[in-house]
Amino acid sequence: MVDSLIKGFKDFKKNYYERDKETILNLVKNGQKPKILVIACSDSRVDPAILFQAKPGEIFTIRNVANLVPEYNPDGGLHGVSSAIEYAVRDLKVENIIILGHAHCGGIAALCDTFIKDKSKIETEETKREFISDWVNIAANIKNNINLHDSIESLQHIAERESIKNSIKNLYTFPWVLKSIRENKLNIFGWWFDLENGEILSYDDKNDKFFNISKKDD
Ligand SMILES: [Zn+2]
Repeated sequence: MVDSLIKGFKDFKKNYYERDKETILNLVKNGQKPKILVIACSDSRVDPAILFQAKPGEIFTIRNVANLVPEYNPDGGLHGVSSAIEYAVRDLKVENIIILGHAHCGGIAALCDTFIKDKSKIETEETKREFISDWVNIAANIKNNINLHDSIESLQHIAERESIKNSIKNLYTFPWVLKSIRENKLNIFGWWFDLENGEILSYDDKNDKFFNISKKDD
């Protein structure tokens, strides 16, 4: 099964690495200087490097279940996501952060499940998860912004977008993120990838709406 990856790497080596070796060697010599941090979901269908056709060195990426950003909490705990945000903002000095959410997110579905928990469903050792519910609970307060009587599909899509807004809000709790924003050195974007239609919607905080940024053919 991993044979396809080995073949993929050989293609990359032949068509990219060897053809554009200078770029790679430059990245080795001068280090990485990405201007963009993308915080995306671990979902295999939403790889930012593929979606944005990014080149090596172009985007610094964090991927986790449901593309969540926790609140700033320097309590000595093991904060993998916050560490990567810290490195991107304070060391790499990225100029843009994109929270990339997506349709049909399993992590957000797990969160929505906790909102509409069917009490008749009994958790078994087989269905119980040890980490996921606590993790997706980072976005638990979006419950107040969604209508639990909506159809499952629209509830899920709304929850995915509300969660992006929640992650943006949490980014603002990191003091050095806030400082860079105030000094106009950092921009924050919330994007939602619509898998079925192949479009990306971006969050407009002034109007509290998501709008399509992928329609134009340019
Ligand atoms: Zn997801």
